Amino acid sequence: MSLLEVDGHVARHGLLTAVHGISFSIAAGEVLAIVGANGAGKTTLFRTISGVHPLAGGTIRLGGSDISGFAPHRRVAAGIAMVPEGRRLFADMNVTENLAIAGENGRKGEWTLATVFDALPQLKPIARVAAGGLSGGQRQAVAIGRALMSNPSLLLLDEVSLGLSPIAVEGLYASLGALKSSGTTMIVVEQDLDRATGFADRIVCMLEGRAVLEDKSGALTRSEIAAAYFGLEAGERMH
Ligand code: ATP
Repeated sequence: MSLLEVDGHVARHGLLTAVHGISFSIAAGEVLAIVGANGAGKTTLFRTISGVHPLAGGTIRLGGSDISGFAPHRRVAAGIAMVPEGRRLFADMNVTENLAIAGENGRKGEWTLATVFDALPQLKPIARVAAGGLSGGQRQAVAIGRALMSNPSLLLLDEVSLGLSPIAVEGLYASLGALKSSGTTMIVVEQDLDRATGFADRIVCMLEGRAVLEDKSGALTRSEIAAAYFGLEAGERMH
């Protein structure tokens, strides 16, 4: 059975329909990448899955239960954690405090302060540093750790590498690779197509609110994904 099933998902911003009836599912332990140009609807899709943006049509099921009407805190309790683009942390609190507060409000499970610091070793030296004083890569690692502290069954990661140095991106993806190996189910929004195909088991490409391409990463060529990304016809494929 699929862990998450999204069926006919519609989301709007006022009169603008940002997501036009997307359907996809993800199995437990699978990693799915959602790719697409700016404005394709990826963030809106994530925000409706986590419940912070209203669903205008369709259903979202987690573990077979319909969670479409659940408020965000009930979705966290059900097992969905989102690492938002822009990673909002409590700037005056240190790293440990930011993680601990997420643990207090989340589900109980294998993720604790100790296991999060093991999985994200870059956090150990900065455990007592206020979040406001961290680099972008460090803040992103804290945001991932904070999401893990709620012991999610599904982790949604929105553009984790945005604005980070290449070294910080390498460090984060090394940590995400370890999470993947340990069986964490993840959906990542990733602008870097090579990174997306290298990391994810399956790719969904969105264009103007629709899923225009979906397959196992290994079955897709870079030019097929790029063509879907930009909405090109077969004859116009990029090389
Ligand atoms: P990006 O990579 O730029 O974050 P995206 O694929 O995540 O893009 P969304 O941010 O979901 O796309 O945007 C989808 C559409 O909804 C776009 O046309 C965008 O302009 C519009 N949109 C997004 N947020 C709002 C908002 N708060 N109010 C009005 N329109 C919005």
